[in-house]
Amino acid sequence: MKPYCRPDIAAMAGYTPGEQPRDRRYIKLNTNENPYPPSPAVRDALSTFTPDDLRLYPDPLALELRRQAARTTNNKQLTEDWVIAGNGSDDLLTIAVRTFVGQEQALAYPDPTYSLYPVLAQLQGAQTRPIPLDQNFELPPNFTHYTTDARLLFIARPNAPTGNSFDMQRMQQVCNDFPGIVWIDEAYADFADNNCLELVDRHPNVVVSRTLSKSYSLAGLRLGLAYANPRLINEMMKVKDSYNVNMLTQKLALAALGDTDWMQRNSQRIRATREHIGKELRSLGFHVQPSQANFIFTQPPLPAVEYLRQLRQEGILVRHFPGERTGNYVRITIGTDDDMAQLLQVTARILQDSPKTKRETARCPAAALKTKPTT
Ligand SMILES: *Cc1c(COP(=O)(O)O)cnc(C)c1O
Repeated sequence: MKPYCRPDIAAMAGYTPGEQPRDRRYIKLNTNENPYPPSPAVRDALSTFTPDDLRLYPDPLALELRRQAARTTNNKQLTEDWVIAGNGSDDLLTIAVRTFVGQEQALAYPDPTYSLYPVLAQLQGAQTRPIPLDQNFELPPNFTHYTTDARLLFIARPNAPTGNSFDMQRMQQVCNDFPGIVWIDEAYADFADNNCLELVDRHPNVVVSRTLSKSYSLAGLRLGLAYANPRLINEMMKVKDSYNVNMLTQKLALAALGDTDWMQRNSQRIRATREHIGKELRSLGFHVQPSQANFIFTQPPLPAVEYLRQLRQEGILVRHFPGERTGNYVRITIGTDDDMAQLLQVTARILQDSPKTKRETARCPAAALKTKPTT
């Protein structure tokens, strides 16, 4: 057939989102959604929404929403001109690559991390500079040496899918040393002990992005926010679609941002559950990475894909990331306490039924590295 498509698009795999099954009811611990409902203020805003208003285009600048987003930071310095809104933070990541990385220029990111980053670079015809994290998934000492020619550096903090958060002083150092834009993707910051928002005041090259998908329980609504110096925001405003945040999202997100207490209470519950489930899994022989997010990244004492398959049979979905550094792990989203009690019960049963020999090979490094040697 005649090749209608750009050859680089035809050659790429594309991003694979986590599964949204429709075949039966599962305990869904695979896409880091929030198990608790959004603020009642969202329901109230929805019930007063007039469909007639949909005749009109939404505010292309999303001004009221950005003003509220600035207010929720509790930083007087940050006004609406320090904020851009997106159709989810994935939209903002796309805008970032299109604004800051030209064709043939490079995008850098730690590895492993959010698997959308290299896909965005490919779409742009840009190069990628994955920088290997160390054994514990921490930033290596000479991190910025690898990245000098990149125009944009994406750092998810807390990182996905590993769940750990990078040291704050290292982050400041990276912001100082890196010659391009440092984009700190804080999709999980509301579940962490600290965040990097104050770095946007101090560094003209730093952007911090957030999302309502996880901590605000609004993944279906699609709203992301990024904070940066107005000079950077202005450039990104030129690149975004004119109406990238629809009218309903602007209205409901405004209501959600007005009730941060609700979000904080849910995040607190999720953090408590996270600590509890970490302990329980360790006592069952799992290796559990320290987590500052709403999920844990863990090595089961049997092959990860086998564990995943058996959980699925029992109606529980978790996520697996193939690859030499992540293939021995599963990522488990923190659900309600009931969800997690189910997970533990099913897990104990799976372990009982799993032959001992299989369990021992699961974490044998030689088996894990069979495909490729590590760098
Ligand atoms: C979930 C996630 C996003 C995407 O968030 P949306 O606002 O739903 O698009 C971005 N970055 C990371 C690291 C994530 O885990």
